[in-house]
Amino acid sequence: MTLLKFMLTTTALVAMTTGMLTTGALAQDAGYVGIAMPTKSSARWIADGDNMVKQFEEAGYTVDLQYAEDDIPNQLAQIENMITKGVDVLVIAAIDGTTLSNALANAAASDIEVVAYDRLIRDSGDVSYYATFDNFKVGVQQATTLVDGLNARFPDQKPWNVELFGGSPDDNNAYFFYDGAMSVLQPMIDAGDMVIQSGQMGMDQVGTLRWDGSVAQARMDNLLSANYTDKQVHAVLSPYDGLSIGILSSLKGVGYGSGDMKMPIVSGQDAEIQSVKSMIADEQYSTIFKDTRELARVTVGMVEALLNDGEPEINDTETYDNGIKVVPSYLLEPLPVTKENWEATLLDSGYYTRDQIE
Ligand code: BGC
Repeated sequence: MTLLKFMLTTTALVAMTTGMLTTGALAQDAGYVGIAMPTKSSARWIADGDNMVKQFEEAGYTVDLQYAEDDIPNQLAQIENMITKGVDVLVIAAIDGTTLSNALANAAASDIEVVAYDRLIRDSGDVSYYATFDNFKVGVQQATTLVDGLNARFPDQKPWNVELFGGSPDDNNAYFFYDGAMSVLQPMIDAGDMVIQSGQMGMDQVGTLRWDGSVAQARMDNLLSANYTDKQVHAVLSPYDGLSIGILSSLKGVGYGSGDMKMPIVSGQDAEIQSVKSMIADEQYSTIFKDTRELARVTVGMVEALLNDGEPEINDTETYDNGIKVVPSYLLEPLPVTKENWEATLLDSGYYTRDQIE
């Protein structure tokens, strides 16, 4: 061996066995992950995508992240494209959890494993794991904050007039949120402490397609003009901050929150910045914080397990039956947030900085 060749070989060996393994091109060899997210119209999904890219890249993966702007054919095309590009694993937050069966069959035919992210993918045997929050508990917490708020703001006005909003009927989570909330509210309705003046109950009547805030605002306008010209609405169950903002616009439009018309108690979910600001301004009453950094961590762990024959972190093997199989799941803990604890939950955890909110 010439001296030059010896020096080059030694240099290459040293580089391979030291620093280069943890940085740069060599470190990106852990696998190729395709991430399909529903939409950028809500801040939470942007945070989900950012957190996953960060954590997957830190663990040495190459990532293809796509958003489908709530368009089902668009999401299907993105997934098919990822399959063609040869990803090792798909992480999917579905727009419509029932439309992916064919795409997942194609993934399975190419030995690509699938993790359902936050939303269950239904009607497919090709989903390996599900990473999410305790969605029933989210609904329980939404309704519990609603009742707390009613007791605080309208203590002497029982029976309280309440209206109900549900999430998108094509999102499995929407039913869990609604059922969780009704586990708290139905007994109060039965006991006569609460009245749904519109009579509109059940996901078929209160669902909001694609979680669209303008759809919720229009429905709230109709509820107010049809049922509340001579009485006050005291609370509105809203399953998501984007709907809450629409509902609050409608309420403010007819004078709630000014003069002697107290703002009804309105719940939410996701601790989006606009809603945190709204809570501080005494408009929205509550939201639910779901730490997307934790959801990314659990998901990365599932992918690592799938690609390395390991055991992922699972804490539920009963709840999420997708119509074909019970998908092994990890359920994270949601946290209720109000004006009282937003700093402790959202700032102390480093989720937001004070500058982003104030
Ligand atoms: C998520 C919620 C979110 C909603 C609307 C649900 O599937 O679990 O966090 O508020 O979709 O984006």
